Amino acid sequence: MRIQRRAPVFETNKSKSRSIWLYCAVIFLLSLIVLYRGRLSWEQEQRTADFADAEFQVHVIDVGQGDSILVTADGHAMLIDAAGSSAAGAITDYLAQQQITSLDYAVATHLHADHIGGFPAVWEAVKPEHIVGSVCPDDLLPTSKTYERYLDAAEASGADYTEMQAGDSFTLGNAVVEVLAPVTDEAKDLNDTSLVLRVQYDDVVCIFTGDMENAEEETVLEQGSDLKADLLKVGHHGSDTSTGAAFLAEVEPTYAAISCGVDNSYGHPAKETLEKLAGYTDHVYITAEDGDIVFLYDKDTGNVSMTASGKE
Ligand SMILES: [Zn+2]
Repeated sequence: MRIQRRAPVFETNKSKSRSIWLYCAVIFLLSLIVLYRGRLSWEQEQRTADFADAEFQVHVIDVGQGDSILVTADGHAMLIDAAGSSAAGAITDYLAQQQITSLDYAVATHLHADHIGGFPAVWEAVKPEHIVGSVCPDDLLPTSKTYERYLDAAEASGADYTEMQAGDSFTLGNAVVEVLAPVTDEAKDLNDTSLVLRVQYDDVVCIFTGDMENAEEETVLEQGSDLKADLLKVGHHGSDTSTGAAFLAEVEPTYAAISCGVDNSYGHPAKETLEKLAGYTDHVYITAEDGDIVFLYDKDTGNVSMTASGKE
């Protein structure tokens, strides 16, 4: 009978110690992974925290069919347009959420109801210091009740009222706001009286276009202004009568935001506009689909981001 050789005792000890080493190595590696992931999520949290008080912010508020855009720079606030009167509640809620208790500037890009209708109620809640409107030929001035209410509210607010055009500028915290249009006071259409603003904070540039259409875009291009922008608020709710190829080629936006209502009767945004934008950026957000759109610039890190709240 063959006697099975027992494994020497020292062999068993060796394999035991090998197991312990292996066990320790696995524990060590797992700890490293846990620590690394913890560090990552901490860093992500930090970044989110940094962005939460980003020095320069643009909020394209989801107001349905219309425009209302909050811009903040170093705690100073500017509201570009206030959509139609039915959206005033959504705007004041949004401003409250962002802890905006006063407006350094309220800008009415032009006098259509989907841009100025909400101002009277918004100004009741949040006082403006300066109101800025665009130059508008007399024959294009609206005769609507909305316009009358807007004028009354502007007067009642106690703010100073200035009409601006190309060449004017002002500051908002460390941001410089340049007015690029209207260039002339001879517009044929109220949309083409839109104030077009170029807002720059450090190297970050945003262009806000109101409802500017192709005719006004041409006058802006003729001025030869620097239009290259990180963020473009697309003109006239993404209509195919705005955002011409020549204009877009100058702007070359990294991010684009379109403000329009769900299933609006105008068919905004136009497929053609979206296709043109797609030639420049994958980051096109639409309030009708994405909800509130938020663009942030963090001065310390130099990071820029754009996100959206999503629809409820
Ligand atoms: Zn409009």
